[in-house]
Amino acid sequence: MNKIIEETTKRLEQCLPLADETRLVSIGQNNLSQAGNIFQSCFDTKRVVVIADCNTFEAAGRIVNTNISSENILSVEEPFLFQEKEFHADSKHLEEVRCFLAKTDAIPIAVGSGTINDLVKRAAFECQRSYMIIGTAASVDGYTSFGASIEMDGMKQTLTCFAPRVVLIDLEILKHAPQELNAAGYADLLAKIPAGADWILADKIGTEPIHRTAWDIVQKPLRQWLAQPEGIATNNPSALCLLIEGLIMSGLAMQIAKTSRTASGAEHMFSHLWDNQHHTFQGKIPSHGFKVGIGSIAVSLLYEKMLAFTKEEFSKSKQNIAATHRRWHEIEQTVRTNFGNGNLAEQVLEQSRQKYVDLLEIIRRFDVFLEHWDELKDELQRQLIPAAAICEMLRKAKAPSSPEEIGIDRNRLRQSFGQAQLIRYRYNILDFVMETGHWEIISSMPLEFPNAKN
Ligand SMILES: [Zn+2]
Repeated sequence: MNKIIEETTKRLEQCLPLADETRLVSIGQNNLSQAGNIFQSCFDTKRVVVIADCNTFEAAGRIVNTNISSENILSVEEPFLFQEKEFHADSKHLEEVRCFLAKTDAIPIAVGSGTINDLVKRAAFECQRSYMIIGTAASVDGYTSFGASIEMDGMKQTLTCFAPRVVLIDLEILKHAPQELNAAGYADLLAKIPAGADWILADKIGTEPIHRTAWDIVQKPLRQWLAQPEGIATNNPSALCLLIEGLIMSGLAMQIAKTSRTASGAEHMFSHLWDNQHHTFQGKIPSHGFKVGIGSIAVSLLYEKMLAFTKEEFSKSKQNIAATHRRWHEIEQTVRTNFGNGNLAEQVLEQSRQKYVDLLEIIRRFDVFLEHWDELKDELQRQLIPAAAICEMLRKAKAPSSPEEIGIDRNRLRQSFGQAQLIRYRYNILDFVMETGHWEIISSMPLEFPNAKN
C-alpha cells in the first residue's frame, strides 16, 4: 500500500508545479492527523474554521477540529455545520456560507465531498479568500477544479472560483465512505474516455485545440486509474488511491488548461440536462457520477454507430448537408419545443447561439473529417472503450449501468440526445452527428446496455 501511495505522491508532485492555484495535495493513510501542520505550511494566517455537515463532521471534521485545537498552533473557530440530512449546493446554502465567512477572517477548511466542496469554494471566492479541502469520498473530480456547480434560479450553473490551495485525502476516511459515493467518482473518471474522444473531434476542426500537457496528465494514466472496478465495489484502499489520484489529476489538468474540456464532453451534457430538468429517482437526485456514467454508455453507443461508416459511406451524406443543416430559426423553434419559454430555454438559446455556424463552415468541417476519416476513425477507436465494456466496468464498480437504474427510461434517453445537443456550446459527438447529416441514426439505433441489470 505504501508503494502505491508513494507512486501517487510522486506523480502528483510532478504535476503540481504546472497548476497555478493548488500548491499541495496530500494523499495518505492516517494523514488526517497532519492537517494542522499541512495547513500551517501553506497559509500565513493561523485562524481556521472547519465547514462540514453532520456526516462529514463525524467522519473527519471532528478529528481535524480536535487535533488542530489541541496542537495550539492554530486559532480554531467554532465549526460551521449544516444541520440538514439532505441538502444541495444551491444559492440559499451558498448565501449561508458566504454570510458566515464574511463575519470572520479565518481560512475555511471544507470537510466533505461534492456539495460541501462546491459551496465552500464559491463562498470563499466571493469573500476573496483561499481555502483548504479535506475530501471524505472519491466521488467527484471537482476537488482541485476552479469551478463550483451551484443551482441558481432553478438551474445548475458552473460558477467561477479559486481552486483550493491545499487538498488532503486520507484513504482511511475514503475506505469508510458510502460505497456509492466512490462508485460515482469512478463513473465520473470513466467519463474522461468519451470526453477525450470529443476533444479529438473538436481539435480536428480547430474549435478547441488539444492542450497537450493537460491531455497527457489525464489520458495517459487513465486506464490504469480505472483498472480496478472490483476494488471500488469493496472500497479497497489501493483501488481508491488510484481513483482519487485520477480525480485530483483531472482537476489539476483543468487548472493547467484553464478549461473543463479536459474532463467533460457530451456524456456530461446528459447529466447537465437531467439536472436542469430536475430529474429525481426514488425521491433523490441521482449523483453526478451516476448520470455521466449512463451518458458515457449512451455516447459510446453513438460513437460505435458513427465509426462503423467507411469513408465512402461517410462521404455520401455530404449531398444531404444543405437539406439537413438547421437554420437559426429552426434551432430556436426546437429549443422552445423542448424547453418552453422560461429561464432554462433562454440559457439554452444563448448556448446554442454561441455554437451556431453557417452552412459554409459546416461544409468546411465535413471536408476536414472526410479528408482524415480513416486516421480519425483509428484515433477515436484507440481512445474509446466499447460501450459493452464500459457497462461491465460500471457494473463491477457497483455503479448503475443501465438508464433505468437512475430512473431514465429508453424513450427519455433517446429524446435526451437531441436535448443534450442543444444545451452547451462545447463541440462534441452530438454536434458532429448533427452537422454531418447523420442525426437519423439516433432515432434508429438500438439502445442496448449489455450486461446491465435491466
Ligand atoms: Zn464530472
